[in-house]
Amino acid sequence: MAGRNHLYVPGPTNIPTEILSAMNVNSEDHRSPIFPDLLKPILADLKKIFRTETGQAFVFPATGTAGWEIALTNTLSPGDKVLIYRFGQFSHLWASMAKRLGLDVIVIERPWGEGIPVDDLEQRLKADSGHEIKAILATHNETATGVTSDIAGVRKAMDAAKHPALLFVDGVSSIASLDFRMDEWGIDGAISGSQKGFMLPAGGAFVAFSQKALQATETARFPRCFMDLKDQMTSNKDGYTPYTPSIPMLHGLRKALDMLLEEGMENVYARHYRLAEGTRRAVDAWGLETCAKPGFESNTVTAVVVPKDKDARDVISTAFKKYNLSLGAGLSEVSGKVFRIGHVGDMNDVSMLGAIAGVEMAMLDNGFDFKPGAGVAAAIEYYRSTAQ
Ligand code: PLP
Repeated sequence: MAGRNHLYVPGPTNIPTEILSAMNVNSEDHRSPIFPDLLKPILADLKKIFRTETGQAFVFPATGTAGWEIALTNTLSPGDKVLIYRFGQFSHLWASMAKRLGLDVIVIERPWGEGIPVDDLEQRLKADSGHEIKAILATHNETATGVTSDIAGVRKAMDAAKHPALLFVDGVSSIASLDFRMDEWGIDGAISGSQKGFMLPAGGAFVAFSQKALQATETARFPRCFMDLKDQMTSNKDGYTPYTPSIPMLHGLRKALDMLLEEGMENVYARHYRLAEGTRRAVDAWGLETCAKPGFESNTVTAVVVPKDKDARDVISTAFKKYNLSLGAGLSEVSGKVFRIGHVGDMNDVSMLGAIAGVEMAMLDNGFDFKPGAGVAAAIEYYRSTAQ
């Protein structure tokens, strides 16, 4: 099919040409005297994305899933109690990993479409007067349902309960695109991946830890080797890595950081809000609803619920086969019930309108009932009236 594939899955996201060009490098000696000139500023600038001055950032040649494991195994010990709310595929997988590692996991089920109930958390933490819970695992942006949770509220709940648990936040689909404040929100471990807001290919686990979490590495008894933070710290101190780094990834990350910091993080957040809001206006004009309940809507991904007599997989299939448009599938419990429109990373108003138009065509082809152009018109009105 002529023309490019239009990629609107919520990661991996489109890679800007500038980043692709920056990654087009030959191999380099990662033990050379000039390698630290590349790595050290990257680690310093990553902290600006995580919004931490007191924490420390790390780059692992891995993915977001490894980020979860890095946080758990470096700071905790087998049998430690951790608490997680499960309300989508990624919070499910993180809970499952914690169990498989041998942690004592308190899993609290929430409806898919809602996020972390901070009042409930406060009550549970107050009830844990012996401070048996060692860590809270919070999924900031549940990519499966398009739900964003209130991490500032999580911190408030922890403080109100005067609870000393570590706070680990999965920011794989939020960091570098949604408002994220590691220091201000008292986050002990922030976990991200390269393939979403950072606009890079998968293969980079970008994480940051507070001093409290780094202290916990001294007593954590999980066996760890490849993902040992101490090895990273020892090498990173001099600007090196404990094993062979992905040189193209580092050059790409350098470029991504430059682009994000040049745009300014507040502007990055505002852009993602506008892209998402235009998409939500379209959903509304189609007479459909988002999977996210009011107050939980994500600005990086919108999961659209299809009517009961429709199968979201048909929309996804038509979009791909007929229009070369890639949409996100509904995962596990919401398979067939939702399709997802990613609005994360390298996108602007016009690229979003392309996706919204393609979704409309695919839905109309599958017998959805709305006036052609309804969603596009609503999004156009919103984008035009709010464009700078
Ligand atoms: N957490 C969230 C919120 C995600 O969206 C994903 C992947 O989409 C992951 C974790 C897992 O990351 P990865 O696939 O990079 O291992």
